[in-house]
Amino acid sequence: MPKSATSIKTQESDRTEEEAPDPLSRQSEVGDLDEEPPGTALAVNKNRFLSHVPQEQWDDWKWHFRNRITTIEQLVHYIPLSAKEQRRLKLVINKYPLSVTPFYLSLIDPADPDDPLRKQAVPCFEEVALAGIGVEDPLGEGHDSVVPGLVHRYPNRVLMVLTDLCSMLCRHCTRKREWRHGGWVRPPAQIDAMLDYIRSHKEVRDVVLSGGDPLTLSTARLESVISRLRQIEHVEIIRIGTRFPVVLPQRIDDELCAMLSRYGPIWLNTQFNHHREITPEAARACDKLLRAGVPVSNQTVLLRGINDTVEAQTKLCHGLLKIKVRPYYLFQCDEVQGTEHFRTPVETGLRIIQGMRGYTSGLAVPTFVVDLPQGGGKVPLQPNYVISHTDEELILRNYEGPLFQYRNPRDPKLGTARPARSSGNGGNGRNGSNGGNGIKTQLAFPDLISLS
Ligand code: SF4
Repeated sequence: MPKSATSIKTQESDRTEEEAPDPLSRQSEVGDLDEEPPGTALAVNKNRFLSHVPQEQWDDWKWHFRNRITTIEQLVHYIPLSAKEQRRLKLVINKYPLSVTPFYLSLIDPADPDDPLRKQAVPCFEEVALAGIGVEDPLGEGHDSVVPGLVHRYPNRVLMVLTDLCSMLCRHCTRKREWRHGGWVRPPAQIDAMLDYIRSHKEVRDVVLSGGDPLTLSTARLESVISRLRQIEHVEIIRIGTRFPVVLPQRIDDELCAMLSRYGPIWLNTQFNHHREITPEAARACDKLLRAGVPVSNQTVLLRGINDTVEAQTKLCHGLLKIKVRPYYLFQCDEVQGTEHFRTPVETGLRIIQGMRGYTSGLAVPTFVVDLPQGGGKVPLQPNYVISHTDEELILRNYEGPLFQYRNPRDPKLGTARPARSSGNGGNGRNGSNGGNGIKTQLAFPDLISLS
């Protein structure tokens, strides 16, 4: 084991704080790093990387939170970085801070600069070099805030931003504009104002708790919000958006699950972006949530060099199904300043869906979504399966390419249904080519964008 592996101190603080320690006062428990050269050992799990940490501490999410890696001096003990890289990354984290949990760090292969998990956690110079591209708040969340922290964009659902704290700062985050403002937790008066707004807007049936990451709050503080939401009759479902099952699954403990089970229906959306994030710990966390009556869905962000191939997405989604997590959305990476190096052309997402649909269970295929700028909302995109469309028939392409005629039934309210037209190929509607139907298709992306 490299000496660097001992740099996270093992003595547990006897603090009994109820929630994650204040990040503003977070004092590294990592030892003096100047005496060591950058670590070079392959470290892909706790045993190889942080084996000195007693299991009791490893299982304690607060220990991980307190011992997050937040400086380049700490990081270089685990991830080899040249002196030039270190200088550059210090510039980057002045603008976009660094925070990696020991748990997530233990999953990174430090010998591979292109490791897909490393790219999500470790800063890179492009974050500032390309910072002129994109905007700070592409989704216009500030504009849609009705009271501080409450976003009401869609007619019947709202987003409650309870904190800007996260256990890990994901380099592709849509809200990385918030990172420089220091860790804050919404004060009680603002929570009260949000709840008052929801109470007085009877159309709100769905409340999303978000952040930051709302699970950085103590279970007791979270319960005080959830229990009051549950008392509002028109709030039907509560959703929690959190990356804890992936980056710090120890947070999903018995106390949290027992609390959540008292206030269902609660749904949880998390963000696995790569199959290697589906660890035994993550699987256990998702299983605990399911047993507590909390369905878990996944919202992947499409990231260049991380998961932008059919193979990577298929492997990820198959792994998710094995741990009973539903692949829900595949998000086009938003146009956020400091994330341009992660963004892929829209066609990449469409090609991925095209390469999955039909080749695996529909349950494994997420919906590819672009979140429109300026609060335009989410738009699902899919490959073009509708080649042409009239009142009478559609020409549809299946996943392998052949075209099929499909009689379009009329709405009985609008008139009598037309008789089926002969397909000219034995009546099965199959039409191996697009020739002869006399209908022209005009599409911006003829191979990829659906008419519907
Ligand atoms: S956990 Fe979510 S909100 Fe927090 S940094 Fe990661 S992506 Fe952003």
